[in-house]
Amino acid sequence: MKTTIIMNNPDTINSLQIPSVMIFLALLFSTGLITACAYPGPRTDESLQQKEYAIALHGGAGVISRNIEPEVRDGYLASLEEALKIGRDLLVDGRSSLDAVEEVIRYLENDEWFNAGKGSVFTSEGKHELDASIMDGRDLNAGAVAGVRTVKNPITLARKVMEESRHVMFASDGAERFADGTDVERVDNRYFSTDRRRKQLEQAREQAAVILGHNYSTVGVAALDRDGNLAAGTSTGGMTNKKPGRVGDSPVIAAGTYADNNSCAVSATGHGEKFIRNAVAYQVCAIMEYSGATLEEAARIVIHDKLNEGDGGIIAVDKYGNIVFEYSSPGMFRAAANSEGRFETAIWE
Ligand code: ASP
Repeated sequence: MKTTIIMNNPDTINSLQIPSVMIFLALLFSTGLITACAYPGPRTDESLQQKEYAIALHGGAGVISRNIEPEVRDGYLASLEEALKIGRDLLVDGRSSLDAVEEVIRYLENDEWFNAGKGSVFTSEGKHELDASIMDGRDLNAGAVAGVRTVKNPITLARKVMEESRHVMFASDGAERFADGTDVERVDNRYFSTDRRRKQLEQAREQAAVILGHNYSTVGVAALDRDGNLAAGTSTGGMTNKKPGRVGDSPVIAAGTYADNNSCAVSATGHGEKFIRNAVAYQVCAIMEYSGATLEEAARIVIHDKLNEGDGGIIAVDKYGNIVFEYSSPGMFRAAANSEGRFETAIWE
């Protein structure tokens, strides 16, 4: 810790101290004791250039075959592009990162390509149980819902939990009852069903497996607004053939979603149980804050060193507006835009 402070504040070292400090540092480096602290220090690179706004979104990571039917690929890309436009335009207009996160996720929840809202996967009982969370980087305020069955847009209910209740998370019947006291739109559980997801359930039953769909297709957004505030959110139907009541990482603050103006905003997608065990979203922010690592470095450590290959990935935006997509699966549906004219969608590299 002391070492990091010295490296970040060269002005505090007077000329008399320099030789002893250098010997001390040389000793620590040679023993390997400060390898973890080696990357901080005054950064002068591009990562410090402040962008006015930035937004990153994902539509899930997983085994996305390159032989995917062209109309499916184009369907996903068109949706991601539309979602990105919605978020980018809100941020251009000076709206908050929270608004951008909620509106983009609502759009993706209403689009049946994605495993969130309409188009969600089935539980082992042939029903839908939806999870979502949202977090405000200004004050660490957060809201989440798990196992909701009749809420058309779970992300909006999660935001209401954050803004209109004294709690962070409501689950199952309690979440439904909380929804009764709000104006969120309600639907029959069958509204979320699609033939595509039903076939995936049949396949999973045949294999007696809990699967993540032919690709995950969970959705998430991380954004920085013109006021310098970060926010993140995630929404999902979870895993095909999951047991009733199973809750993944997406509604768990620190696992699937995290945002802190001091570091970054993160939304995760992948094998939920592993993301919960590794507090993935929080770890990325914590590594940045405590070690001085860049967002890219922190994301790489968590996705490749903490998790196993193929577990999934994250999208993240830091307080400067840097955008990172880090994943260890063959692909990730994703999109990014910023105030410097970046506007792109991608699936593989
Ligand atoms: N993380 C989600 C879950 O485990 C699934 C996903 O990201 O696709 O519920």
